[in-house]
Amino acid sequence: MQTRQKTRQVWVGDDRTGRIAIGGGAPIVVQTMCAGYTHDIDACVAEINRYIKAGAEIVRVAVPERKDTEALKSIIPQVKVPIVADVHFHYQRALEAIEAGVHKIRLNPGNISDRDQVNSVIDACKERNIPIRVGVNEGSIIERKDKQRRMEELGKYFADHRSGHLLALMITKLEEYLEIFQARDFHQVVLSAKSMDAALVIDIYTEMAARFDYPLHLGVTHAGTKDSGAIRSVVALGSLIANGIGDTVRISYASDHVDEVKDAFEMLYCLGKRERKGIDLIACPTCGRIQVDLFTLVKEVERVLMPQIELPLKVAVMGCIVNGPGEAEGADVAVFAGDRRGIIYVQGIKVANVPEEEILTRLLVECKTFEARVRAGEAKLGEKTVQIVPPDPIGELGSGHAKIAAGHVAQVTVGRT
Ligand code: SF4
Repeated sequence: MQTRQKTRQVWVGDDRTGRIAIGGGAPIVVQTMCAGYTHDIDACVAEINRYIKAGAEIVRVAVPERKDTEALKSIIPQVKVPIVADVHFHYQRALEAIEAGVHKIRLNPGNISDRDQVNSVIDACKERNIPIRVGVNEGSIIERKDKQRRMEELGKYFADHRSGHLLALMITKLEEYLEIFQARDFHQVVLSAKSMDAALVIDIYTEMAARFDYPLHLGVTHAGTKDSGAIRSVVALGSLIANGIGDTVRISYASDHVDEVKDAFEMLYCLGKRERKGIDLIACPTCGRIQVDLFTLVKEVERVLMPQIELPLKVAVMGCIVNGPGEAEGADVAVFAGDRRGIIYVQGIKVANVPEEEILTRLLVECKTFEARVRAGEAKLGEKTVQIVPPDPIGELGSGHAKIAAGHVAQVTVGRT
């Protein structure tokens, strides 16, 4: 992991929403964007509140029409999070959104390029102390005129890159656009350059980090569904963040945007860039030794414990005694299973041996009790107290290699109920 690259700092929000710092060494900020219509005021407020509940720290909304910027006047006072207006094609939408009290503007150099228009937005933002994200996108950056000639010309600058022409186009566009901001002495700027190509995203942001000191908003655009998009996004964003690049992130999925927020935080937790909230779940992938329905158990543990436990307890759900004791030793609360039973440990101390159907309930009780002890200062997270001696596989757990080998355990169908 490399040291975080220092950028300028900009602030988003006000007294009512709280002010969020982006860049300048502040924690990496997680944002998302509404999927519904902004002019559908009640639905938009409800959607934003869902994202706030999931942890979103900034929420962006689309404002394609006058009725959308008009709606912002009603939406902004009802939600307690900084709102960004995503502006394309019509610079007037930016002016209207600023008038409505929006906390940040996103402009796309690919479709708002008139210098006077950009200047009027800059002046309005300067007056209200509002930052602007300059966000280029692969999909809207290709110039229609002289496209082939320009791509060949620009591609020579980054000839050693797989998508050198695109890289050159995006960097050039940012440099040209930023010149307008610099001439206006406006530096409350955040930059982004998104593509659906994870490798290009890594290259372009690496190049941007070397050239600009403005904070960087990371994202892989049009990444796909949660399943395919998660890998695409985390490969690119995780790699950049591990290399010290990036100040705010938006993961984008063609599915529920709550998942974008959750996955962005999980990525940052895994990289040690944000302090974890809620349980840190470890689970074994299962194998031919399993004798409980572990897949269902793990899903249930996640569903039940996540909303009820606030502290970052490390919880291990392990299928058998092979790796169970080792993982249980490193966890705050752990269960490892045997023949339709589970032994539960709290920081290495065995507290219960229960039948499979009672594992979830007992695990929740132990997690809550342990969390209360931590809050009371009677226990510390991550403090290993005891070395676990693996139980007798045949006796206590009613399982294990010997018993399996001897054919004393019935087959169970894992993951099917
Ligand atoms: S903990 Fe046991 S059941 Fe789970 S994968 Fe490891 S050996 Fe298999």
